[in-house]
Amino acid sequence: MSSIKFRRITEYGSLSASGKNPQFNLVDWNGYEKYDIRRWDDTNTQPYKGITFDEEELEELLQALKIAVDAKKSTTPTKVVRCGSATAKIMDIFGVLPQYSDWAKLVTFTDWGYGAKYDLRSWAPDYSKCGKGITLSESECRRLIEILSDILGIEDTSVIAFEDFVVRGTYFGCLSGHKTETITAQVNILKKDGSTETVNVTAGHCHTCGCYFMSETDYQALRARGILLCQVITEKDFKKNGTRIISGEDWKPESLLHQCGYNVNATDDLSDTQRHEILTYVVESGLQTVYQITNFLDWLIGQANRQMTRDMSSAIAKWSSDRKYISNYKMGSRRLVGVRSSRVKVKG
Ligand SMILES: [Zn+2]
Repeated sequence: MSSIKFRRITEYGSLSASGKNPQFNLVDWNGYEKYDIRRWDDTNTQPYKGITFDEEELEELLQALKIAVDAKKSTTPTKVVRCGSATAKIMDIFGVLPQYSDWAKLVTFTDWGYGAKYDLRSWAPDYSKCGKGITLSESECRRLIEILSDILGIEDTSVIAFEDFVVRGTYFGCLSGHKTETITAQVNILKKDGSTETVNVTAGHCHTCGCYFMSETDYQALRARGILLCQVITEKDFKKNGTRIISGEDWKPESLLHQCGYNVNATDDLSDTQRHEILTYVVESGLQTVYQITNFLDWLIGQANRQMTRDMSSAIAKWSSDRKYISNYKMGSRRLVGVRSSRVKVKG
């Protein structure tokens, strides 16, 4: 490290409650200013392993960390990979950060042989190689979230991930009678032109059910801006079979796409880009495979072709266009905001 010149520009301090390592700082490395998470020696003159971020990556990092700390963790690895002389059991992948190369900086929950911890590092697209990085405990992650929220001037909010469920209706409290926390939640909205916008909304969060409750009025206000990038169900759906829907036990392809906002109704009139983007999110989140979606669209088209009483030509044209789009889509070719487990888990 002796050839590397560095200067600690701003010290945001330790992430650990004991005041020791790791630290978060703005550091000048050989003339490049980077936000830096790493361990140091006692005199802060010897840097150890860590990871750096550019300013434009901080918001994405914050969102990935927020999703990570609130998520229920997997008990079995989604990937087991060799990295140098170590074996990494990747339990969950929570977010991807934009990078200039095809390597991605990922927030994962990974076991390097000492129990699973939050892990920040860059990975090759096929996970065959990884860069230097850092592992953090939950409390260190939460401290990092506080520091990043301060730097970015973002209030402390939860992030509703694409895989999360929102129950829309009259009531903020959990309909199963659990204790519900009222929070400010960030939800991503998909607009007509295919761009996304992040909006804050007041919601109830039930930790037992792992879902969010939103008022119909707030839902309609968001819906007027675009499609909510999460799974939305009504109070009626929740009362009927809420926990089974949320846990994925009561799972049907038609209800899944509908919950994710996909439809070809003339009244909703989603743009081609919106419908294609929703299907991209469904695939990249691992909720369904391309094959499952094309099978389902084939079935819809087949049913509609047998329909004699109504003119289904507009719906058929949209399904055909969507089928063509998604069958040509290459999994892993996009990095999407607010997706919890990219490219790893598939239901059914
Ligand atoms: Zn509940």
